[in-house]
Amino acid sequence: MKVLIADDDITSRVLLENLTRKWGLEPVVVEDGKAAWDILQQDDAPRLLLLDWEMPHLTGLALCQRIRRSADTNPAYIILLTSRNETVDIVTGLEMGANDYVVKPFSPVELQARVQVGKRMLSLQNELNQAQQELAFQASHDVLTGLLNRRAIMEGLDKELARTSRQHQPFCVAMCDIDFFKAINDNYGHLAGDIVLKEVSQLISAEMRQYDSVGRYGGEEFLLLLNASSEDAYSLLERIRLSIESTVFNYQDHALKVSISSGLADFQLLGHEQENASQLLIDSADKALYKAKESGRNKVVLAEPKE
Ligand code: GH3
Ligand code: MG
Ligand code: MG
Ligand code: MG
Repeated sequence: MKVLIADDDITSRVLLENLTRKWGLEPVVVEDGKAAWDILQQDDAPRLLLLDWEMPHLTGLALCQRIRRSADTNPAYIILLTSRNETVDIVTGLEMGANDYVVKPFSPVELQARVQVGKRMLSLQNELNQAQQELAFQASHDVLTGLLNRRAIMEGLDKELARTSRQHQPFCVAMCDIDFFKAINDNYGHLAGDIVLKEVSQLISAEMRQYDSVGRYGGEEFLLLLNASSEDAYSLLERIRLSIESTVFNYQDHALKVSISSGLADFQLLGHEQENASQLLIDSADKALYKAKESGRNKVVLAEPKE
């Protein structure tokens, strides 16, 4: 683990550098608070900090304050080092955001013990952050396919609509549904169905461009948000349709084939007012999907412009 050492006194710096290296840390050493701040702005900056109080340009105390003011999801652990040993100084140091306070001249074993506490706190913080990220991912993604789940793609739709209406850019939504999917389950079992669903999801994702998104809207239904004109969106859906149509899904010794139908709704063409635009767009895409199913499946249908 990296440790940032900031001290204007050469003797202190050398001592701290040698000690922390002996304790298995990777010291990053600077001579003042300003240089320390610059290091902290870099990617992969040290999270464990040993800061001298009195330093030119920016004191350790001012640095503490500055660090705590910049919102950080992965806060540093700060040990303030100083020869000030009045209670009021210690209280000030802690109030300004230091986690701990060590008076110089310090006993190396005591500092080592305090550094250990810092390492423990940082690793707990790390675990907590990872768990939080994991939870956030799980809350927004579908377990089987790994795509965005219904809630997340609907949130995405609201955001895209807000942005699209501001910037007057082309925007389409598509509702895609696997044809006769129930037959896969009925004939080969639910596990076969799951495998097809996963692979179809991958085939759709593979065709998506950077600014588009796809979510699992329901069982074998996908909602696509496309920052594209209806012509471009139509071509993209055709590519998806062809890619699925031409894929053989292997399950045990069966070679399974499926197709997909899509209904496409163009935000500009439908001219929906802002309030319930998302519902109207989805309804239009749904109606177009129904038409695709009615007229033979394995096709893309563009929703009619509103009269
Ligand atoms: P259509 O062409 O009209 O869409 O016919 P369909 O058979 O695809 O449509 P239907 O709505 O009758 O059946 C959808 C099936 O999808 C029924 C349901 O059991 C299955 N399904 C939904 N979610 C899952 C899943 O997570 N795994 C599996 N294996 N099947 C699922
Ligand atoms: Mg100093
Ligand atoms: Mg279906
Ligand atoms: Mg369906």
